[in-house]
Amino acid sequence: MFDKAKDPVCKMKIKRSATATTSEYEGKLYYFCSEKCREQFDKNASKYV
Ligand SMILES: [Zn+2]
Repeated sequence: MFDKAKDPVCKMKIKRSATATTSEYEGKLYYFCSEKCREQFDKNASKYV
């Protein structure tokens, strides 16, 4: 079971859940520890994938 995801911005391990902050990029779902990290990712996604 893969219930842990990695925040691609700050590399923090986070739990996958319905309430997690996520963003979809090129068909893949990414998980974030906070809105701040998601904003960073959305601004420059290609840098983090
Ligand atoms: Zn983060």
